[in-house]
Amino acid sequence: MALLRSYVSGRWHTPAVDGAPLHDAVTGEEIARISSAGVDMAAALEHGRRVGGPALRELTFHQRAALLKVLASHLTEHKDELYALSTRTGATQRDSLVDVDGGIGVLFTYSGKGRRELPNAKVLAEGPVERLSKGGTFVGRHIASPLRGVAVQINAFNFPVWGPLEKFAPAFVAGVPSLVKPASQTAYVTEKLVELIISSGILPEGSLQLVSGSAGDLLDHLTPQDLVAFTGSAATARKLRAHDTVVRNSVRFNAEADSLNCSILGPDAAPGSTEFDLFVKQLVNEMTVKAGQKCTAIRRAFVPATHIDAVAEAVSARLAKTTIGNPANPEVRMGALAGLEQREEVRRSLKSLADAGTIVFGDPDHVEVIDADPERGAFLSPILLRADDPDRAEPHEVEAFGPVSTLMPYTGTDHVIALAARGLGSLVGSVVTGDADFATEVVLGAAPWHGRLLVLDADDAKESTGHGSPLPALIHGGPGRAGGGEEMGGIRAVLHHLQRTAVQASPKVLAKITGEWVEGAPRREEEVHPFRKSLADLRVGDSVVAGPRTVTQQDIDHFSEFTGDTFYAHTNPEAAAANEFFGGIVAHGYLIVSFAAGLFVSPEPGPVLANYGLENLRFLTPVFPGDTLTVTLTAKQITPRETADYGEVRWDAEITKQDGTPAAKYDVLTLVAKN
Ligand code: NAP
Repeated sequence: MALLRSYVSGRWHTPAVDGAPLHDAVTGEEIARISSAGVDMAAALEHGRRVGGPALRELTFHQRAALLKVLASHLTEHKDELYALSTRTGATQRDSLVDVDGGIGVLFTYSGKGRRELPNAKVLAEGPVERLSKGGTFVGRHIASPLRGVAVQINAFNFPVWGPLEKFAPAFVAGVPSLVKPASQTAYVTEKLVELIISSGILPEGSLQLVSGSAGDLLDHLTPQDLVAFTGSAATARKLRAHDTVVRNSVRFNAEADSLNCSILGPDAAPGSTEFDLFVKQLVNEMTVKAGQKCTAIRRAFVPATHIDAVAEAVSARLAKTTIGNPANPEVRMGALAGLEQREEVRRSLKSLADAGTIVFGDPDHVEVIDADPERGAFLSPILLRADDPDRAEPHEVEAFGPVSTLMPYTGTDHVIALAARGLGSLVGSVVTGDADFATEVVLGAAPWHGRLLVLDADDAKESTGHGSPLPALIHGGPGRAGGGEEMGGIRAVLHHLQRTAVQASPKVLAKITGEWVEGAPRREEEVHPFRKSLADLRVGDSVVAGPRTVTQQDIDHFSEFTGDTFYAHTNPEAAAANEFFGGIVAHGYLIVSFAAGLFVSPEPGPVLANYGLENLRFLTPVFPGDTLTVTLTAKQITPRETADYGEVRWDAEITKQDGTPAAKYDVLTLVAKN
């Protein structure tokens, strides 16, 4: 039988022992064996730090993000190989789509976000420059730089592709190497994924390693620069978070654990309404996708007491139509649990849940299956419970990690908010209602206990991604029982892998360190206008001072007529005089900005291709007829694009009046050719 390999210290390692058997969830047949015996965990971490880290840090955020796109395309070409193995975990085609395509989608998303939201630089200058002294010679700004360690990523068995990729992508963009430890039960899918990645040669060596089998003494070797991102049960999260080395070295520890997520049907959604049907459909979907083995699945379904019979009936009718069996058979809607042990665990949890309620659909010990043997494969009927006393503890505490959900009645808005909170922290909740007031009250009341809340109604249903799907752009974790992690999802997950440092210095030194011009740093005025310089020649600090130009009453009248902006402050002397901010006719803000452009541009065709916007525009003091304007334009940030022959240049623009008072300040955004 094949032994799963680990990829550590730059080579594939095959254990020299028999290993523990892993079984096909559908047929019970042995698929592979697994053991991490002989893996030198300390050496693997050191390899990441010494080889992977430096190679990644040679690249900019954009260069790493661009590699993710190449990798995503490569995996797309090979996804059938992953699908084939995914079926053996009990996953249907629909389930594999969530795992495999969802995982590849995360790579595409981080590739795009990394290039749009981060600079094409090796360090991130974050937030505004803080003036720390009166004279302006002492300023501060935060920089964020990649941690010099390894991101250890420990995953749950239910998403062997999406799980590793959702953690690897932000670590990679950040410039931190990953060491992936998948859950043993489905590690054969992750082994294939890592094999596809490593053999592609797309990533720098050391940026991704794999440990198949138990983690052994891995955590003992963590340093303060390493991180741990864990997905799995709350019990394991608790244990690992308290690991001596993790505590001693203040290792960043992110946990996404199990939770008792709820879905709430609004009181307006009576049987026959669109929202009633949406609620029923979503609940059945969440119970049956991945055979309910999703940390985000709906475990608690709260419905108005008056509608509970109708909901129980409608959900049961729909569940009765769910075909169960061999996931390779296209007629099958729900496959198997990940293994027989998992099924036993769900049955044990069901016993506790049944103390608090009754089963209204399904039989934990019997299920009809298509194209498979119900005893050899880990098949289980979907089970809908009904707990008429929603104050019982069990439904709020016991997670049956399978196709199991409990219906409970509520009596009013405050009651249902209190019930939602009894999960003591959840990854996600949903409210299905056509009543925006009810939705608002529930969302604001339940938000502190949730990482994510979905409001589902007739308007968004068609395009909604549903209750159970964590999205790469939004946070994943949840408070309390859900693990307390809110670092993953979106660019915040990249930042999680960076160390934020407050740098205090003079403007000149700060500009040098961050690679961005800051106010007070030297400007360079040369004979050549900065608009005549391509990215190859342009330097941060290059500037042009243009003007003066006097604004006349005629200019203001003309601008009013020409644009139709006849706001009284520009056209009605009495009304303008009565305005406490102006005291008389003032020039339009947009006129001032337009005059500034007229002053600073260099008009002939050249490397500047387009002006694509302004940011942070502030009009600081009114400009009256007769005032004279001067504008200073300074190249502030230069961001060449990796995949185009141009890049972005952000310019600092400051318009001052004859006495030096600032009239307006803003950033001008342009596209400039590389050569
Ligand atoms: P688990 O038993 O807690 O295992 C999770 C991971 O931790 C596995 O990779 C496991 O490896 C590893 N592990 C266990 N003990 C360890 C130790 N002492 N040192 C280092 N690693 C250790 O959870 P599971 O059974 O795989 O997954 C099911 C649970 O995960 C459910 O409760 C579910 O709600 C939760 N989950 C949460 C999320 C989320 O995003 N919040 C997502 C999916 C699943 P081995 O397999 O090799 O033991």
